[in-house]
Amino acid sequence: MAQYLEMKRAHPDAMLFFRMGDFYELFFEDAIEAGKALGITQTFRGAHNGQPIPMAGVPHHAAEGYLARLIKAGYRVAVCEQTEDPAEAKKRGSKAVVRREIVRIVTPGTITEESLLEARSANCLAAIGLAGGGREAALALADVSTGRFEVFPLSPAALEEVLGAVGPREVLVADSVMMAPDVARATEGLTLTPRPDARADAKLGERLFRDAYGVSTLDGFGTFTRAELIACGLLFDYLAVTQAGGQARLDPPIRTAPDTFLAIDAATRASLEIERSTRGVRQGSLVAAVDRTVTAAGARLLALRLGRPSRNRDEIERRLDAVAFFLDATDKRSFARDALKRANDIERARMRLSLRRGGPRDLAALAACLSVGEQICADLSSQDDPPEEISAACAALTLADKPRLAAFTQHVSAALARELPVQARDGGFIAAGYDPALDETRSLKEDARGVIARLEVGYATETGISGLRIKHNNVLGFFIEVNAKHGDALMKPPLAATFIHRQTMANAMRFSTTELNELEAKISRADGEALAREMEIFNRFLAEADALGPELALVADGLARLDVAAGNAEWAAEAFAVRPEIADVAVFEAEGARHPVVEAALRASGQGFTANDCRLDARGSAGPRLMLITGPNMAGKSTFLRQNVLLAILAQAGCYVPARRLRMGLADRVFSRVGASDDLSRGRSTFMVEMIETAAILNQATQDSIVILDEVGRGTSTYDGLAIAWAAVEHLHEINKCRALFATHYHELTGLADTLAACANASLRAQEWKGDLVFLHEVKQGPADRSYGVQVAKLAGLPSAAVKRAEAVLKKLEAKEGGAKRLEELPLFANFVAEQPDAAAPSEADQMLAGLDPDTLTPKEALELVYRLKAATKV
Ligand code: ADP
Repeated sequence: MAQYLEMKRAHPDAMLFFRMGDFYELFFEDAIEAGKALGITQTFRGAHNGQPIPMAGVPHHAAEGYLARLIKAGYRVAVCEQTEDPAEAKKRGSKAVVRREIVRIVTPGTITEESLLEARSANCLAAIGLAGGGREAALALADVSTGRFEVFPLSPAALEEVLGAVGPREVLVADSVMMAPDVARATEGLTLTPRPDARADAKLGERLFRDAYGVSTLDGFGTFTRAELIACGLLFDYLAVTQAGGQARLDPPIRTAPDTFLAIDAATRASLEIERSTRGVRQGSLVAAVDRTVTAAGARLLALRLGRPSRNRDEIERRLDAVAFFLDATDKRSFARDALKRANDIERARMRLSLRRGGPRDLAALAACLSVGEQICADLSSQDDPPEEISAACAALTLADKPRLAAFTQHVSAALARELPVQARDGGFIAAGYDPALDETRSLKEDARGVIARLEVGYATETGISGLRIKHNNVLGFFIEVNAKHGDALMKPPLAATFIHRQTMANAMRFSTTELNELEAKISRADGEALAREMEIFNRFLAEADALGPELALVADGLARLDVAAGNAEWAAEAFAVRPEIADVAVFEAEGARHPVVEAALRASGQGFTANDCRLDARGSAGPRLMLITGPNMAGKSTFLRQNVLLAILAQAGCYVPARRLRMGLADRVFSRVGASDDLSRGRSTFMVEMIETAAILNQATQDSIVILDEVGRGTSTYDGLAIAWAAVEHLHEINKCRALFATHYHELTGLADTLAACANASLRAQEWKGDLVFLHEVKQGPADRSYGVQVAKLAGLPSAAVKRAEAVLKKLEAKEGGAKRLEELPLFANFVAEQPDAAAPSEADQMLAGLDPDTLTPKEALELVYRLKAATKV
């Protein structure tokens, strides 16, 4: 127990898997928690401070499954192994404790096992570095399972957005900056691992960084800010701690500046359901709808591109060229896709091997990928002048100019047997005929089997017992078994001189002989020798794979790129998607556009989707800058709004778009505020959330941004809501000057199209037919004639009495022509800001008094009001 307690003290925040024989045992709190999380039985053992110690165990061969569940449930697990044979310990004295060590800490951000990872998602570990008194920030991002490593500086305020785009499984941050407002906001809801401040040090970071790549200076990688070095330091230090010395080798850092991406904030990302639907699953998301990749690495690359679309025109065009190529060359596309299906996850196999956690199957995966790459490359090379993305991938994949890689592929393929064990230590993975020394030891073993067979016949003749058999089990090894009735004969002279009694069973007796024991020893020696020889070959391949690391990374990247391009072409053919045209001006001209997710869902249930056009121009010349969308509920407003932004995201990710045509100027950011959603878990009301998000949009959108706003102002009273929506429209139009779609049920707003120069109305058509409402989902110019709210209520099944009453009330209200109409006479936003309030306008004090009911005020509230009135009138 002392040994256990010491280890637990060193890792108080992790569950401790303490190896005892064939089990990992958990004690105390760990046992209770694991019992709950894994549904395993908890028992008691011994006592600590007079109390029985709770204990639970998992068999070591099934540990991965349990680990996976614990990691999913958000735990970290420290794995403690026996590092010496118990027999060795006994030599030190009967009471000596077997030596044990923590060999690894398994955390969500550092796993590499296939069974613990989601194949089609990245598994990113992020480290935040802050410097300059919190004014400079940086992120270091590593996917230990694939070796991808990125470092870049950014402003602390941008942390939230970038972390939102990356979706890290675990975030490292120094203790003292954990509560810094930008950090706290950015890491909300993420798995946070606080690290000691001493590890967040630029000098340490630089040293660990250099050590990780075995270089004496970082100049070859570029120059790094202090914040970047701090982030790298936290990252490398943590990798060393969790791998307990095992080296996680990362690829050279990718240095991406965040402003090369199309920025998508967290709220927009969630509302557009890019990587996950609002239910938190992949199904129903944009990624799921368009992903036709056939390899896990391809799926991860596509998700990365859609999560962080580009703002670099050349890069986008290069990707589109590749999709266009595969769309045209259907034979090459199907050849590549069929071949890729045989390619395993080379990125992750390579990392497992480099961490010495991989097995023969990972080695086979590398060889398979290399030969698949070679085949695809050979097929593509018959094409004249392929686009750059394709030729670059081919250059990485061809083995013709890479003798070492070619030899590696050939040797591994020749060396491995057909059936492969998961673990190298199980042996039997090297094919017969590959290695003469191995074949010789194996034949020794085979010979021994022959000798045993002959021995069996000899003993049967000698004893005259025809039923005598030589058998084997794990306890006795080889033994001779005879029927119980013959046992006596073997235990008496003369046979007793040869046969040594070992065991008496109900019906049988077991014996051994010196000769058999010697043979046994010889066989087990041969076994050991064969395994040692296999391990030697395996380790040689591992060393070769390590040396070939950078080339293997290029192969993995090439395969993933081809998969994404061919996959997108496959989807484009299926979904009638077209290549977007990138313009130099901030226009957005979509013709016959469709929502990829809604369309797929409707198609699955046998329904069609109505395509719609959308024309916007930030300059206001080729189309309106801002379009107001009206129409009844359920008419398709939200779908229309979102589909246009999704088209922009697809285009900038370098994918084809579901439309007849799309021409757009690249956006710097997209914003979406769709539907009123409560965020009560964070203690914010619907309206507060709505306003925070609207504020973010009005404060940040530039002329290059694309904004969609849906039903802004719905979370408050009618006049408040209308006033806010009104002001937001004016602000977007006059100040942000971005391309915008604004859906609203405030019909009063539609009049703004007459006063704002670059604002137009569009509406979704609906028709009344035999007293029912039919949605046409068609966008037409001009505002909706009515809101049809009562008809929608009827469709939703409101009792007919209530519907009738609503119709009557509506008639009355419409006859009265409510005060809202007069709002059109309010000054425009721009004038409003410039003008001083005139004498006729209600004063602040007037406004305070306007909505007041004196009868409901408490004496204290009344007194406070007097003070506020006094302050407002400044007398
Ligand atoms: P609104 O925002 O106007 O209330 P939604 O955009 O939520 O309406 O659309 C309501 C439903 O109408 C969607 O779930 C979808 O099934 C259907 N729909 C929307 N747009 C279209 C379209 N263009 N073609 C076909 N069906 C559509």
